[in-house]
Amino acid sequence: MARYSDITVAGAGIAGASTALALQRRGHRVTLIDKWGPGNSRASSTDYNRVIRAIHGRDDFYTRWAREARERWLELQAETGQRLYYECGAIILATDGHCQWEDDTCDTFTRLGVPHHRFSQAELQTRFPQFDVRDIAYGIYEPEAGMIMAHRAVISTVQLFEKFGGVVKRGDVTTDSDERPMLDGKPIQSDVTVIATGPWMADMFPRTIKPIGSIMGINVLYTSTPAGSDRFDADNMPCWIDHGQGSFGMPSVEGHGVKAAVVIPEKIDIDNDERLIKRESLTRTRDYIRKRFPGLVGERVVDSKFNQVIITPDTHFIADWHPQHANVLMVGGCSGHLFKHGPVMGDFAAGLAVGDYDTAPRFKLGPRRKLTPAESPSGR
Ligand SMILES: Cc1cc2nc3c(=O)[nH]c(=O)nc-3n(C[C@H](O)[C@H](O)[C@H](O)COP(=O)(O)OP(=O)(O)OC[C@H]3O[C@@H](n4cnc5c(N)ncnc54)[C@H](O)[C@@H]3O)c2cc1C
Repeated sequence: MARYSDITVAGAGIAGASTALALQRRGHRVTLIDKWGPGNSRASSTDYNRVIRAIHGRDDFYTRWAREARERWLELQAETGQRLYYECGAIILATDGHCQWEDDTCDTFTRLGVPHHRFSQAELQTRFPQFDVRDIAYGIYEPEAGMIMAHRAVISTVQLFEKFGGVVKRGDVTTDSDERPMLDGKPIQSDVTVIATGPWMADMFPRTIKPIGSIMGINVLYTSTPAGSDRFDADNMPCWIDHGQGSFGMPSVEGHGVKAAVVIPEKIDIDNDERLIKRESLTRTRDYIRKRFPGLVGERVVDSKFNQVIITPDTHFIADWHPQHANVLMVGGCSGHLFKHGPVMGDFAAGLAVGDYDTAPRFKLGPRRKLTPAESPSGR
């Protein structure tokens, strides 16, 4: 392993924070810089929670990474003493006529030995009576899936990084006309600079990242659980993915309410838009809740979040060296599914940053091609 005295990581979302921690653990001197600070409300890594599940269609790679990530989150939870993970399980609801990705996930789980159960519609209704599944063909239940407490996970990762001697700074990393990273108007002089600025990577790298990164806003709403009832809590209900309805969500945990997103691709100006949800999302999510969760009809929306993802054409992450700057490593490309992989991605990126290995072909900057939903790890 090459020895680097000085590494800068720009961006303290889950990708940057996990990479910084992994590098610091390896004994490097690391500075983590963020424009608004770790855990800020603009970042993709904000919000209370994110789903962790190995459900990735026919994609062995991410399925294995997610399984490893689960172990790593459990270790991090033990190490930090913070509640980072709730193992409430996750279910994919397969709608008649839209089952290819779900069928593939089942095959992958069987092949790789991932614990799962395939439930018929009738079994689903009995097992999870919170859901109205009359339009569902079957469900795949992954009991060792759950949710990561996202904001807490970012803060805990950064605190651990500091505990190991890492330095956290507030700063706005920019790029010059050659896409060279700059801080305070001067080129960053570190041995290696890791760029993990999430969706902001696109504008910072108009030639390298913008062509492979489109940005989409997503609204999520939290609906109150019925008074006096814990039926919709994580102890009694799993996370879910409902591709047929373009939705996913999580049961209530720590009193936040049931979280549901109905994904309506939405433009977002990531620097200037206020993070307020849109009326259309409110209506669509309420309609969805009414259809899928009859027990929540009449309950009130108690919280909401509006954030963004950067999506690559093939929904694979980015972990590659800048084509012109040999010591600038780009890490991100969230594509809506990076959070869960955070510690594994961080470790991978750390090894890459110090020259232990080359990147995986899927993480190279380009060229990228759009995959069919059946090929895609995210089913989109
Ligand atoms: C609504 C929603 C639901 C999601 N659900 C899931 C899920 O269930 N499971 C899952 O695994 N993933 C999920 N994701 C995706 C996941 O949250 C993201 O993939 C992940 O958070 C991306 O992390 P990141 O570190 O790459 O980017 P970010 O979290 O955006 O971090 C980038 C950081 O860089 C900083 N920054 C930006 N510009 C600069 C600059 N110029 N200088 C210095 N710092 C800068 C920002 O302040 C920010 O802190 C979801 C995303 C959204 C929006």
